Formats: sequence, C-alpha cells, structure tokens
Amino acid sequence: MKAVRLWAHGAPGKMEFGEVPDPTAGPGQVVVQVKACGLNHLDVWAEKGELPIRIELPRIQGCEIAGEVSEVGEGVEGWKTGDRVAIQSNIFCGKCEYCARGEESMCLANIMLGVQIDGGFAEKVLIPARALVRLPEQVDFQTSAALSLAGSTAMHMLTERAHVKRGDWVLVIAGASGVGSAAIQIARESGARVISTGSTSEKRELAERLGAEATLDTDNANWPAEIRTLTQKRGVDLVIEHVGGEVLLQAFSCLARGGTIVTCGATAGSKVQLDLWPLFVKQQRLVGSYGRNRLDLVKTLEWAANGKLKPAVHAELPLGQTPDGFKLMRERKLLGKIVVVPN
Ligand SMILES: [Zn+2]
Repeated sequence: MKAVRLWAHGAPGKMEFGEVPDPTAGPGQVVVQVKACGLNHLDVWAEKGELPIRIELPRIQGCEIAGEVSEVGEGVEGWKTGDRVAIQSNIFCGKCEYCARGEESMCLANIMLGVQIDGGFAEKVLIPARALVRLPEQVDFQTSAALSLAGSTAMHMLTERAHVKRGDWVLVIAGASGVGSAAIQIARESGARVISTGSTSEKRELAERLGAEATLDTDNANWPAEIRTLTQKRGVDLVIEHVGGEVLLQAFSCLARGGTIVTCGATAGSKVQLDLWPLFVKQQRLVGSYGRNRLDLVKTLEWAANGKLKPAVHAELPLGQTPDGFKLMRERKLLGKIVVVPN
C-alpha cells in the first residue's frame, strides 16, 4: 500500500511518500481502508518531536481516521468487511478501572494513534476492533475525518467535563480552530450565547458564521475588557480554552462568579501563575480535559448525522501531498481542517 512515513523529526520533519507492506489483522484487530484522515496539531507536535513520549521511526502519522473495514481478525465480533467506521484516536485498553466505567479518556494504558502506532496517512491502517465506532450513513468520510477528533474533544469539554446550559454565556477561544469551531456549534445548539476570539478577520468571520454573536481580536490586548462590556459586566459562565499561557489568565478575567474554564491544551505555555483569591472568592472552577470517551465520539457523529455539527474544512489533499498539509498547519493560516483523502 501507499503511505507517508516520518523518518526524522523537525519542522519540517523528513517525510517520504511510498510503498510499504500491507497490514494484516491479528486476533482482536481489524484492517481499515482509509477513506479520509484529518490533520491535527498533535501530528505537527509529533513531527517536531515535541511530544513528551518517544516515537519509534519511521512512523505513519494521522489520528483522525474514517474508512471501511477491509479485513477482520480472529475473535472480532460485530464488525464485517465493508462496514463504515470512524476510529477513536486515543486507543484505550478496555480493561482498566476507568475503561470499565466508560471513562476511556482516563485510560491507564492509552495509546496514541499515529504516534505510538501507525496511523491514517496511508491507504490502510491496523486497529484494535474496540477503537471502532460505526459511522452513521448520513455522515460522509471527509466530514467524519474533519470532526471526529477535534469535534469529540469539544463534545467532551462542553458536555462531560463541564455542562453547558441554555442561556449560558460561553467564550470559545480561537473559534476558527478545530476544537473552537465545534465548540461554538455545540454551545449554540445547547442554547448558549457565544463569544469567540480570533487573530485575523477571516478567522473571526468564520467564528461568526458558525454561530458566535460577537468576536474579539486577540491582537488587541484589551479584549477581556470587551467581554465585560458584552455581558453587562457579568462575565461568561464557561470558557473553552486550548491555548494556555497568558490566554488562560485572560480567560480568568472574563469569568463570571461560579464560572468554569475547561482547558485541553497549552500551545502558548504550560506554566502560569494563578491568583487564588478571585478563584475561591468567586467560586470558580478550572477543569482539565483530555481526549474523549467512546460515547463522546458516538455523540459527535450523531450530531453530525442530524446536521447540528458541521466541520469547517480548509482543504482536502491527496495522500502524496500530506507534507503540504503539515506546512499549512505550521504556518497557522488555516480556516478549518486539512483532510487527507488517499484515493
Ligand atoms: Zn483502560
């Protein structure tokens, strides 16, 4: 089969497009023919070698996969050749105490697809059957590949780690990002009022098209003060944050009494100095979020099937042009997702 393999870390890393042996399904495994695979920041961090885990090279990257089952291994039940599937990218063990209670995002033996095992920038991928989720017939492969990771991350943040409610004010940081664009839609569909941020007018326009009623320019250092004006000094009930650093502190200055910040990333810095006084006096919460549970992915695809959640897609690329997608991602000029389509 054809695949794109990472041979050396860097920005750009050394990637090679070519022929590799086909995978074959062992016990409990399936081979999925990749129809589409989304590109994520995780892939770019892995390319640079900036993840805090060792990656064996060469590695086929790509963690946001949709496709068709093409081979079923021994002992696999409930799946057959031709089934349309999405794949949960945090491959959980299915055995630990967290998996046992449906909290796969906290699995003690979590494996990252496209990082610790080969992923979807290839014509086929080998997957443990437990990581498959059925793709509703209304959802096409490209939509699934543009939604299933970032969309389910947002679903986990807004409906599991926090509980967005009708009438809430929600601030979505970086509304043109994969997580941000899904978070805006989930909050709106839940009856919340959404304010978002973006560093360019194109990004802010996208956030508005997705449902944000106001957008703020993060290049303007006073943007948190504008939140106070927009909410009649009250502040927002919920902040969906995935940038970290100074942005997390700015998010606190936007937060209402009893409000919650959910954070799932720290691209702008993982160390911040927090003032605990307002945190406890205003009875606020800072909540961590990581990945998704299996049910979050199921719910994300159901929402997509019902037309409540649509991905913002910047471009679709053929498999051989995967490195160009990494370049676009590094340049941070994307309006929505890059989706690699092998055929
Ligand atoms: Zn587990």
